[in-house]
Amino acid sequence: MARYTGPVCKLCRREGQKLFLKGSKCTTPKCPIEKKAYPPGQHGTRRRFKQSEYGIQLREKQKVRRMYGLLETQFHNYFVKAENAKGITSEVLLQLLERRMDNVVYRLGFAPSRKTARQLVLHRHFTVNEKSVNIASYILKPGDTIQVKNKSKKLDVIHSSMKKIRDGKLLPWLDLDKAGMKGTLLSNPARADIPLEVNESLIVELYSK
Ligand code: SF4
Repeated sequence: MARYTGPVCKLCRREGQKLFLKGSKCTTPKCPIEKKAYPPGQHGTRRRFKQSEYGIQLREKQKVRRMYGLLETQFHNYFVKAENAKGITSEVLLQLLERRMDNVVYRLGFAPSRKTARQLVLHRHFTVNEKSVNIASYILKPGDTIQVKNKSKKLDVIHSSMKKIRDGKLLPWLDLDKAGMKGTLLSNPARADIPLEVNESLIVELYSK
């Protein structure tokens, strides 16, 4: 599946906030947005004009799309799915994105970023309900368990990421058995339990035009 392969820190600077695309670097003073909190490019430091309503909605959509590392068509497909599902479209959209396999691997702490999580999934390092799955977009259901395969339990990238997990910091809709390197999706995440600084209703407004 196609994906964006350009410089990711530029994406954060474009959106004016940290999108946490680079793993551990994002929480250190090396994060470029700490020093250059203005858009990239020659005119990035210029005074900015007031954004239109459309512009604000578009930026919110781009922000969420980039956080999850999706291309426009893929993201729009999630919106269509959310729109056709029961419930509040904006909330269902985030729930679908959060239940993607690469995101759950990241949230469980098996990978430092969604990008690394996606690579680990594609390289068949995990099972879902004891069956090998290598589809990053696989949507997990409540009760599904995801586990690091035995042959992959010694991988440095997984170990160093897991070392950083602090007890009590795990999201309430996930359960982690650190010793067994196994996690469970306990429930569909409620909006309040999804740590994203975005206004998802703007995305619905944008696509509903
Ligand atoms: Fe964004 Fe992380 Fe780069 Fe900082 S280090 S600009 S948060 S991707």
